[in-house]
Amino acid sequence: MKQIQCKSFSIEEDVVGRITFRKKIFNRSKEIWVSKDASSPIFGYAATITTNENIVSNGKPYCVVNSIEGFNEGDVVVINKRGEIVFVYEIKSNHNAIMATERCNHRCIMCPQPPILQEKDKTPFNLKLISLFDKSTQEIGITGGEPTLIGDNLFVLINHIKKELPKTAISILSNGVKFADKEYAMKLAKCKHHDLQIDIPLFSDIAEEHNRIVGAKTFYKTVQGLYNLALFHQRIGLRIVIHKQTYRRLPQLADYIYHNFPFVAQVAFMQMETTGLAKENLDKLWIDPYDYNMELREAVLLLADRGIKPYIYNAQLCVLPDDIRYYAQQSISDWKDIYISECDGCMLRGQCAGFFESNRNIHSAHIKKVENISPDISC
Ligand code: SF4
Repeated sequence: MKQIQCKSFSIEEDVVGRITFRKKIFNRSKEIWVSKDASSPIFGYAATITTNENIVSNGKPYCVVNSIEGFNEGDVVVINKRGEIVFVYEIKSNHNAIMATERCNHRCIMCPQPPILQEKDKTPFNLKLISLFDKSTQEIGITGGEPTLIGDNLFVLINHIKKELPKTAISILSNGVKFADKEYAMKLAKCKHHDLQIDIPLFSDIAEEHNRIVGAKTFYKTVQGLYNLALFHQRIGLRIVIHKQTYRRLPQLADYIYHNFPFVAQVAFMQMETTGLAKENLDKLWIDPYDYNMELREAVLLLADRGIKPYIYNAQLCVLPDDIRYYAQQSISDWKDIYISECDGCMLRGQCAGFFESNRNIHSAHIKKVENISPDISC
């Protein structure tokens, strides 16, 4: 998440609020007022943010920042007493998500965000956040950790989104294990959300391989979870992170998906984010994306030819074979999406996903700006 450092004053407990530049008379307790030249914190607002070093304290929470340029009307931030302003929702982003829990029942070898063992229940905080999000939000992700570890509170979150943001789509990222319990899958269906997709990672067509990568013997539970979700007509996406331990069998995995899960709405092949455990295990995982193009191309075209929608996430267009560029998506969250100097002057820069910030120095050796686009190539 985007974060800005500030000097915070009169802040003991975390302050959560929606950013506003407007001065309101009523209903301002959920808002954080941002003004370049605030002379003192305004009563009624959750906090005040300013660049004015000479602001006079009146005991109300406030913080001083170097610039207010990074804020937008409608963003939602958390300010803590360490002076961190964390953007938990960005109005201009298409990648907003709530973290249901940081706990997980898997230990994936390439997990970018290693799970923790214990935590305070995040549901009350998440319910509050959802109420602060803009009503026109297109999509909200529910991620983790493993979101199903909060049990039925997952459905409390879904129903709250439904009530507060009735037009917003929901995308849940889950390992699918909990949906092996048919009752639990049925409870998701009973939420009757109009636009909900559940994305589930599958790393191999061989159970032992998948289990080794996720650090748990859960392959068949995930498979059962997929069937249960399909039974209740839930929209499912599959996700495959590509690295040294998964790339060789991509075509076989695509074939397995076609034969066993023809009901899935899409399959996303994802380039690995080299942070967290992926960074720790880099020597076991890293392969130049250029070097798995042959397997990726075969898998993508196999699914496309058979009517299952493939996507390629987090990939650089100049590295992909021309005939599968069409399937690449702008998939990296805005706050960690970068381009490198080799991209200067590239004609595809606007369409290309670019790089994770953490991949700034760990990327393909084949990045090369594209100066001409052949009319035969669609992106
Ligand atoms: S040069 Fe950069 S912007 Fe252009 S296609 Fe490659 S990675 Fe993308």
